[in-house]
Amino acid sequence: VWTNCLKIIKDIVEWQHFKTWFEPIKPVELKESVLMIQVPSQFFFEYLEEHYVNLLAKTLKRELGKDARLEYRIMVDSGNKGRSGSMDVPASTARVYTNNEMDFPLVINNPVKNPFVIPGLKKMQIDPQLNPIYTFDTFIEGDCNRVARRAGKTVAEKPGANSFNPLVIYGGVGLGKTHLAQGIGNEVKRLHPNKVVLYVSSEKFINQFQDHSRNNAINDFIHFYQLIDVLIIDDVQFFARAEKSQDAFFAIFNHLHQSGKQLVLTSDKAPKDLDGLQERLLSRFRWGLSADLQMADYETRIEILEMKMKNDGLDMPREVVKYVAYNITTNVRELEGALISLLAQSSLNKREIDLELAKKVLRNFVKTSNKEITIEAIQKMVCEYFDVSYDKLLQKTRKREIVQARQITMYLAKSFTKNSLKTIGEHFGGRDHTTVIHSCQTVKDLMDTDTLFRENVMELTQKVQLASM
Ligand code: ADP
Ligand code: MG
Repeated sequence: VWTNCLKIIKDIVEWQHFKTWFEPIKPVELKESVLMIQVPSQFFFEYLEEHYVNLLAKTLKRELGKDARLEYRIMVDSGNKGRSGSMDVPASTARVYTNNEMDFPLVINNPVKNPFVIPGLKKMQIDPQLNPIYTFDTFIEGDCNRVARRAGKTVAEKPGANSFNPLVIYGGVGLGKTHLAQGIGNEVKRLHPNKVVLYVSSEKFINQFQDHSRNNAINDFIHFYQLIDVLIIDDVQFFARAEKSQDAFFAIFNHLHQSGKQLVLTSDKAPKDLDGLQERLLSRFRWGLSADLQMADYETRIEILEMKMKNDGLDMPREVVKYVAYNITTNVRELEGALISLLAQSSLNKREIDLELAKKVLRNFVKTSNKEITIEAIQKMVCEYFDVSYDKLLQKTRKREIVQARQITMYLAKSFTKNSLKTIGEHFGGRDHTTVIHSCQTVKDLMDTDTLFRENVMELTQKVQLASM
């Protein structure tokens, strides 16, 4: 089963990522539709969880049917504590993934089918949809987030009974909105286990709403949400233009607020700058507290890196920590990304982390991480480079130079943009995603065998990198 899963995954993820994150996984046992896999570390597990859980779950479902579940076991290597050998422990923090992680758990008009609503109980049992790794402990405080973090703490201690209702946390991408919002949810659960907490992204909320709307079940939808004690909605900016969903949200908001229930919202902009949201909603956001998150300052960045390393039982020289903290100034997600790349590179090349490696890794990192280049821009660059016309690039032709130019363009588009394989294919005269996968693979293979080809690709890669800075 696992071998089949790997085959599918291999086609989808980048080769290097596949080597780093999937090859080390060991299948341990298969019991009915539950597959247990063993991963090398807590860090590894978290990385998979953050980046590949959907992919893993989907592939597994394909192999084992819709009841498929994945369980993790983390291999604890006690080597860095001076002892040798390794032992297997059932990971206490490992989560068991079920299909419900991806699909909406609520089927309100048919409660028997719904795993989260158990009829007959006084309080509803709802999975709060929280990721346990996001806690206050792991959310480092600094000038950049002090107000938001402390307000969050207060909210978690006295949900509904404080003056921060709603609490609106806002800030740019990767600055910790989701972490803090989920941290509040986890803290409420810890301090008040009986409170009904639900974390939901606004996109999911909108999707659920539309499903219910199609089934003429809007009242059920609203009714369900009105039963929640602490409602956390992430990224409310996506409510823009979803008028009907905003109406439902407005009704829910009013009901919860009046009943002394807590609302926590996050947004990428300050409420006053949120275009596309109804004024009546925005005016309610002002009832509570809006607190912003800024990028962590240098000292806080060091603290964050040290905390992450400590939690994962990792170590690296102080000068490297400083170097990374000094150079990554965009957002915390990138800071973590840099650390992860560094670890991946170090383990891949079986090489200690030192300043030299850090410089190398960060060079790529900073380059690829800024603004995103478009597929069209890449096409234009390749056309110029090989002196072929745009039309030719798209046409069906067997001419080798043109086929290769096209394959390289697809490969670069896959590497440097976040577009899906499908979208990339569409930019090449409606080719399908398998063609794109095939092209990327061909380019990688040719780079290994054909020096001239390799040089061309490297040179183009540099050009694209420069253009994305
Ligand atoms: P956002 O939702 O604002 O885009 P996230 O909450 O996803 O950002 O945060 C991005 C990453 O940065 C997460 O892994 C989160 O744990 C981490 N992070 C952000 N702020 C902090 C902080 N103050 N301390 C520790 N980790 C943080
Ligand atoms: Mg987020």
